[in-house]
Amino acid sequence: MAKKPGPKNLPKKNNPFNFLILVALIGAAAALFMQGEEGIQSFVSEPPTEVSISQFIDKFEAADFEKVEIKDQKITATGKDGIQYETFKELNANMADLGLDKPPTGTIIEVADTTSGKMWTNLIIGLAPFLLLLLLIWFFMRRAGSMGGESGPFGFGKSKARIYDKTKHNTTFKDVAGAEEAKEDVLELVDFLKNPKKYEKAGAKIPKGILMVGQPGTGKTLMARAIAGEANVPFFSVSGSEFVEMFVGVGASRVRDLFKTAKRNAPAIIFIDEIDAIGKQRGVGNGSGGHDEREQTLNQILTEMDGFEPGQSVIVIAATNRPDVLDKALLRPGRFDRRVHIDLPDMGAREKILKVHTKNKTLARGVSLKKIASKTVGFSGADIENVMNEAAIASVKNRQKSITQKNLEEAVEKVSLGPARKSRRITDKEKDIIAIHEVGHAIAGHFTENCEPVHKISVISRGGALGVTWFLPEEDTYLNSEAKMRDEMVSLHGGRIAERLVFGQTTTGASSDLERISRIARAMVMTYGMGDQKNIGPVVFEQKNRSMSGLLEGTAIDCSEAMSEKIDAEVKRLVQEAEDRATKILKTHSKLLREIADDLLEKENISRDEFLAYFE
Ligand code: ADP
Ligand code: MG
Ligand code: ZN
Repeated sequence: MAKKPGPKNLPKKNNPFNFLILVALIGAAAALFMQGEEGIQSFVSEPPTEVSISQFIDKFEAADFEKVEIKDQKITATGKDGIQYETFKELNANMADLGLDKPPTGTIIEVADTTSGKMWTNLIIGLAPFLLLLLLIWFFMRRAGSMGGESGPFGFGKSKARIYDKTKHNTTFKDVAGAEEAKEDVLELVDFLKNPKKYEKAGAKIPKGILMVGQPGTGKTLMARAIAGEANVPFFSVSGSEFVEMFVGVGASRVRDLFKTAKRNAPAIIFIDEIDAIGKQRGVGNGSGGHDEREQTLNQILTEMDGFEPGQSVIVIAATNRPDVLDKALLRPGRFDRRVHIDLPDMGAREKILKVHTKNKTLARGVSLKKIASKTVGFSGADIENVMNEAAIASVKNRQKSITQKNLEEAVEKVSLGPARKSRRITDKEKDIIAIHEVGHAIAGHFTENCEPVHKISVISRGGALGVTWFLPEEDTYLNSEAKMRDEMVSLHGGRIAERLVFGQTTTGASSDLERISRIARAMVMTYGMGDQKNIGPVVFEQKNRSMSGLLEGTAIDCSEAMSEKIDAEVKRLVQEAEDRATKILKTHSKLLREIADDLLEKENISRDEFLAYFE
């Protein structure tokens, strides 16, 4: 995941040049305020000599003036000596009153019709300071960072949520290839948004908040938009990262505005992308302060969600690839209490996604999308879209009429090496090792009595792990028995042992398995008194503390050297025993191991039912 620049490591934008502009603007604005109209004129020409009206008339009658200009109350005259004179008449006094209607010969009289012209100059001059001020404010806001752009200087407390026009951007489930499980999960939401009344009548509670979990590019945004499209409701989308670098309070007001707009347009969907940017656990992580804004924004979201009234059919969908860092308050019932996982696409899904993105493109005859799908293990939907696009670009460059298999294959290379793809590409050999490893876990676990049933085996990397085998309990359990802990260690050993049996060596992929095994074995001996009863017995040698991350961690309590040797030996014995059992199981079922692994390589995912079918 791309790191969001915190307020601390923002690039410094206030260079001296900007600062000078700022000072100049302030100065100009102040000068204008103080001097007004006269001030501006004084910049233009030399000030005329002011005379009284009677002096003026005297001079006028003496034909001292070459030219007289009358502008409202002001009379300016150019003397024959070249000097400028200026005087003021009363507003209502007309020219006849002053005797100006009969000028002596040689004097030109000009009466300016100023009513309209003056209005404009006055207006402009009067507004100039304000315009400058506006400029200043705008300048400040630009510097304040991320709220610039489309919202303009004054819209920054308003929500920047984009409303997708119902008719124009109609994304539907057809645009989301694969992801069948996720689609099933959200089907009910679509129905609710379509007929909120039906659910209301039945008194059914529909989740307000959905957490869409998946790696970048797996189609979370796409799916959220498809839900809106299927239900034909407006879609308001905003990204959590937009809130991060803002003035305190702006984020909250924006959230308020967003929810208000959505409620007005209900039924509607609010989509908050990258919610982890604002929804990080409070008080954890970088203690750099400056969390106020995030916290306020987060609190506002929670308040708004709590404030939904029964009839308001607004569903908030939030997307993240880091559900583990989210604040617990976000996940509480009534908030984002429902999760929809979007996994990386498996082989079948990748082929479907490729197909979706061949719309408006011509493929050469004989192109096998299936082959391309098999070469793109670990690619996200976005990566695959990128592959199609690159292939199309290459075909245009070569002046081909259609996209060939070669274009596609080269595009796969390009995309997997490209900067856009952060997760690495897995080679066929690695994939084989991962498959054997995962099936090893599954088989070892399956042949123990107390391991939870295998739920799913997958060779598609997710997060840090390369593959996964899920064991899911059939019912909730609160107590772990000694036997179960021993069996768990057996299945954990399965991965590494399978690698050794098939390939003759083990890989670094097993390190987290080993870590868990040691932790179980140590806990058995040091915390739960399950070790050797005669030599060690039910004595607790560990102190449990809850760590910052919420995990229970043990620190060893001091004990005699002799005892600590006994503990070490006992831990080792437990680990060894589990390893021996795993080896025995996998040796017995080595044929099955290879067989299931081959199927897994083909399909990339094996479900619980498919797995159980091997043992019938
Ligand atoms: P995320 O929000 O999870 O990061 P996006 O929804 O933005 O991913 O996906 C980026 C693009 O990748 C989408 O616009 C779409 O073109 C493509 N894509 C991702 N998943 C799929 C899919 N399952 N089917 C079709 N296209 C997909
Ligand atoms: Mg997205
Ligand atoms: Zn493993």
